[in-house]
Amino acid sequence: MIELSAAQAIAAIDAGELDGAELFAFYRERAVEHGGELERGGLNCFTWTSPEVSDTPAGPLAGVPLAVKDLFCTQGVPSQSGSRILLNYRPPYTATAVTRLRDAGAGLLAKTNQDEFAMGSSTENSAFGPTLNPWDRARVPGGSSGGSAAAVAAGLAPWALGTDTGGSIRQPAAMCGIVGLKPTYGSVSRFGMIAFASSLDQAGPLTRDVTDAALMLRHLVGRDPCDATSLQFPHEIELPSAERLDGVRLGVPAELSRAGGEAAIEPGVRACFERTLALAQELGASVQEVQLPHAPHALSAYYVLAPAAASSNLARFDGVRYGLRAEDPRDLLDMYTRTRHDGFGTEVKRRIMLGTYALSSGYYDAYYGRAQRVRTKIAQDFAAAYESVDLILTPTAPGVAFALGEKTSDPWSMYLSDYFTVPMSLAGIPAISIPCGLSAASSPERASDDPSPPVPNGGGLPVGLQIAGPAFSENRLLDAAYALERAIDFDAAPARV
Ligand code: GLN
Repeated sequence: MIELSAAQAIAAIDAGELDGAELFAFYRERAVEHGGELERGGLNCFTWTSPEVSDTPAGPLAGVPLAVKDLFCTQGVPSQSGSRILLNYRPPYTATAVTRLRDAGAGLLAKTNQDEFAMGSSTENSAFGPTLNPWDRARVPGGSSGGSAAAVAAGLAPWALGTDTGGSIRQPAAMCGIVGLKPTYGSVSRFGMIAFASSLDQAGPLTRDVTDAALMLRHLVGRDPCDATSLQFPHEIELPSAERLDGVRLGVPAELSRAGGEAAIEPGVRACFERTLALAQELGASVQEVQLPHAPHALSAYYVLAPAAASSNLARFDGVRYGLRAEDPRDLLDMYTRTRHDGFGTEVKRRIMLGTYALSSGYYDAYYGRAQRVRTKIAQDFAAAYESVDLILTPTAPGVAFALGEKTSDPWSMYLSDYFTVPMSLAGIPAISIPCGLSAASSPERASDDPSPPVPNGGGLPVGLQIAGPAFSENRLLDAAYALERAIDFDAAPARV
């Protein structure tokens, strides 16, 4: 059963060759055995697993189990957004994205670990401890949807739902060797998603392959009266079928691919990226350089805009309505401050302070207003680039999965993980990450009689390719990703536990 993608499992169930309830029980057992706490030898990718064998709902998804990022509200089931302040919070309603998949026949298998309120790139900022990368347990799975990515890569869930604000679906997908798609902003309802930055947050699939991503997206999209920013997707999401890329014009942004200094691309990542560009040309695509002159400022703008939104969204966690409440408060203010002091982690507090500062009167225009103008420029850059190319390609992240603890004390180096993904988020356009190979082990010069063990250098770890398109170009994006996926023929099996 483990070798079946979600689409293959559905086909097998429909053909009567596989029992939906049996499939759910199989994954539930695996999830409990390998997905739990670190102390029990698990990957710590789940914060909750279904206590019972699902009632396998009817529908086109045939009861195939689904893992869902913690921050999606699921009625009666812990929904904590990776935070102590929401410890054991069980919402009275379910997020639209989850309801839609459930109505289509997906069974809720588990909730997945994440960075607190989706702030992070490594899943280390979780109140429930870090998730491990199944390719190398000493490394992070990326983040913030790291629990979802690790679960799918390790074969503990056939597929998973995540969210992406600045890269949180694409970057962990890249670091775990799976597929992750951030749809066009507004195409999937945000209702019931515990908010981080509302003008950027977007739900999407983390899957083993491109077909599964298309299949899940098909059931996710649609206007929802409960989310005023959601809209009707202009066409049906098709399952991809392209085998070639004839006539497809691919653009490689000069500013991003030549990024040097602190955002420099690791050699192992660059090699995979270049190889994939050559492969795309063999499939009939043309490759040209494009300009995104403001993209190098994306990260700076993002780290004003996202914390500003977060500082406002997180004001609701005051000890009155949800989750944690400080004990024996002296007065109301004491309850607010102690609840927030005890309930929020370091990174969340940092963002609240940054955001509150950026929005304070007198600074508003210098920071927030300016960042908004940069955001507009970036969207215009993409629009101009898409006049001469169909799709834009970059590595998903500058490096492969890094070691646990390597970047926790240096927030800026952590933020740089999203150098290539944040511009698309600011522009609201769709982007997918697919695995494009393993980074080669670059063996550092060693004396032949050196007795020390070789230093692990990130060799043999998955590298992600990011493909971005204009708003609502998901079908074109998925087709191109599918053709490349077939040609790359990435083997994800080594990550399965
Ligand atoms: N790593 C980025 C951040 O910390 C993006 C997170 C996300 O996409 N949710 O904000």
